[in-house]
Amino acid sequence: MPASVAQRLPSIDSLLRHNAFQPVAERHGREALLAMLRQLLDDLRDSVVAGQLSAIEISPEALAGRIAERLALQQRSQVRRVFNLTGTVLHTNLGRALLPEEAIDAVQLAARYPLNLEFDLASGKRGDRDDLIEGLIRELTGAEAVTVVNNNAAAVLLTLNSLGARKEGIISRGELIEIGGAFRIPDIMARAGVRLHEVGTTNRTHARDYEAAISPRSGLIMRVHASNYSIEGFTARVPTAELAELAHRHDLPLLEDLGSGSLLDLTRWGLPAEPTVRQALIDGADIVTFSGDKLLGGPQAGVIVGRKDLIAKIKKNPLKRALRVDKMTLAALEAVLGLYRDPDRLAERLPTLRLLTRSQDEILAQAQRLQPLLANVLGEGWIVTAVATLGMIGSGSQPVARLPSAALCARPQVSKRLRGRSLLNLQSALRELPIPVLGRLDDDALWLDLRQLDDEPAWLAQLGPLQT
Ligand SMILES: *Cc1c(COP(=O)(O)O)cnc(C)c1O
Repeated sequence: MPASVAQRLPSIDSLLRHNAFQPVAERHGREALLAMLRQLLDDLRDSVVAGQLSAIEISPEALAGRIAERLALQQRSQVRRVFNLTGTVLHTNLGRALLPEEAIDAVQLAARYPLNLEFDLASGKRGDRDDLIEGLIRELTGAEAVTVVNNNAAAVLLTLNSLGARKEGIISRGELIEIGGAFRIPDIMARAGVRLHEVGTTNRTHARDYEAAISPRSGLIMRVHASNYSIEGFTARVPTAELAELAHRHDLPLLEDLGSGSLLDLTRWGLPAEPTVRQALIDGADIVTFSGDKLLGGPQAGVIVGRKDLIAKIKKNPLKRALRVDKMTLAALEAVLGLYRDPDRLAERLPTLRLLTRSQDEILAQAQRLQPLLANVLGEGWIVTAVATLGMIGSGSQPVARLPSAALCARPQVSKRLRGRSLLNLQSALRELPIPVLGRLDDDALWLDLRQLDDEPAWLAQLGPLQT
């Protein structure tokens, strides 16, 4: 071991006294600096011993620079902003809905100050956190009563357990769905203590199928919105109003899990029709559950609305305490719901709706404007085009409906054998940008759907140094 070489590396003590290290210590703390310095010197010692580096080349300034870089990387937040150019607007893996400014302000307030979370300011007595949003949700849905939990999966679990435990839950075979992240209706029913009684067939279920299943063991009838697939062709399904009538004739509650659901009729903005919460209640569903961060455009939450006596039962379930929402969610939800009072301005103020309603012409014009810039950055090996494409709402809303959109399409100009590798390299270079850019691979090309690119300056600013 040529110890003489290793010894020529500067000592830790002398380095720590060197001026170049003072700003690093101030910024990251002495402990972090010392730990990183030890690690870096160990690495360098190995390189010197292996003859790959001469100890003479190691200056304190260079070392301080490398350490500052490593520490900055190490201390960088794991929660990172990204550009979602996948074409799926409500992308579950990318955080679904983006909150409007009103909700962001409300979250800040809730984070910064004490608030009346469970305190009734009028009476000075203890309150219930659901009271903060109950009035607004009743007004927007026509429901008698409301409670809110952590997400819609929790809403379904809690409702089933509160109303159907140790009894049978009757559900059509065509609605025994799985939603991403291993949320399967039969499993959730089992966990909720409800015995699954499936009726009908995958494609056709009739009123007589439900009728035949009803017995003294029955606890409820459930309907689940087939949110991430569609059954077409020779199909039959009992309309909610008819199913509700049947359930009530046998004194059973009808639960409807809308999944996304919507508070307003989306066709007024040219979007595909999605069942509204209000209509489900008018049709006679006793309890309706839906997500806060899908089409509603708010924070992650599960909203349970419906009959007052049933909601009271749900709120008494000890599971409610385990599944309750936090103060920041409630604050954001109230702010988002407030925007629904003015539907005329909703598409301007609610980011989800604003993004969903951007016209294809506008997105295509944007793609045409950015096409030469991306082509220039990628250089010779790529052909970049601005093209019309189809995106999706996402999160199980309208699985078959496509949103006319536009994208930048980057196609590698290499032999077929090398194409896959080029595309993966480009994809990973885009992911390594300060704000990672996420697109989608399809048909031997990388597609960047621009529906969600509103922060163009930030996107452009980081494209320069792209290395592929
Ligand atoms: C999305 C969805 C859920 C789960 O909702 P989360 O808010 O993701 O927990 C449940 N049921 C249906 C029908 C859904 O579409």
